[in-house]
Amino acid sequence: MSNAIELRAVEYRYRSSDTGLKGVDLVVPTGSMTAVIGPNGSGKTTLLRVLAGLVTPSGGDVSVCGGPPDSARRRSFARQVAVVGTQSLLGFPYTVLEVVLMGRAPHIEGFRLESEADLEAAAEAMESTEVAALSHRIFDTLSSGERQRVAVARALAQEPRLMLLDEPAAFLDIKQQTVLYDLLAALNEERGMTVVSVLHDLNLASLYFDQVVLLDQGSVYAAGAPEDVITYASVREVYQTDVYVDMNDLTGKLNVLPLPRSRKT
Ligand code: ADP
Repeated sequence: MSNAIELRAVEYRYRSSDTGLKGVDLVVPTGSMTAVIGPNGSGKTTLLRVLAGLVTPSGGDVSVCGGPPDSARRRSFARQVAVVGTQSLLGFPYTVLEVVLMGRAPHIEGFRLESEADLEAAAEAMESTEVAALSHRIFDTLSSGERQRVAVARALAQEPRLMLLDEPAAFLDIKQQTVLYDLLAALNEERGMTVVSVLHDLNLASLYFDQVVLLDQGSVYAAGAPEDVITYASVREVYQTDVYVDMNDLTGKLNVLPLPRSRKT
């Protein structure tokens, strides 16, 4: 199968407003790294919720890992697709290890206890997200950034073919942002895991992703290579702000710099 995700003319309307998704077409090739960017309220989270099967569109076709993400495929879907959403407290004193082991649930038959292999997958996931030292801490007592990394560890323990992430770097410091995206890039390269991530940082979108989808008011404004999508003109039109965009000699990727009022033309 050459495409992990195919969306055609997808519509979704929130009942209480005229917002949502309007005629979204999207193709995510298997094994690609796709960033979803756009201003606040442009529909990024809604799009991710449609892909995760958490909401059902009112129109159009959605195919994720070979079929619609509906309840009929729940178990096989959970084995293939991991979702890292925004982290809320669990309201129950689960340890970090218990939370990460929840990622193994789709692989555990019936009421069987977790096996050596499950514990190994959880340990490996905690190592690579640098949360192993926290494994016996209560999840709800962690900082936002630590909780975010544990959520990624849980998704990794799931060993998915496709990972959907909603602004996973939001609470991470600059080192942990790099650890996270380096890890996703390594899994993409070594295991062919497809990655779709919502993110705000246009520099990270350019540094790590081969496809960027720019949303504007629930529609796809542009999709393609970062340097074709993230331009002075597109950012100005969609985000309604001026930025400085240049190619970085060291990385060969874009530098995108917000301009203070005093520098605007
Ligand atoms: P983004 O993730 O890009 O910030 P969202 O997908 O969260 O955007 O939201 C897209 C639009 O839909 C926004 O205008 C938001 O206010 C609206 N919206 C989101 N959730 C709901 C909801 N449950 N009910 C009504 N409107 C919503």
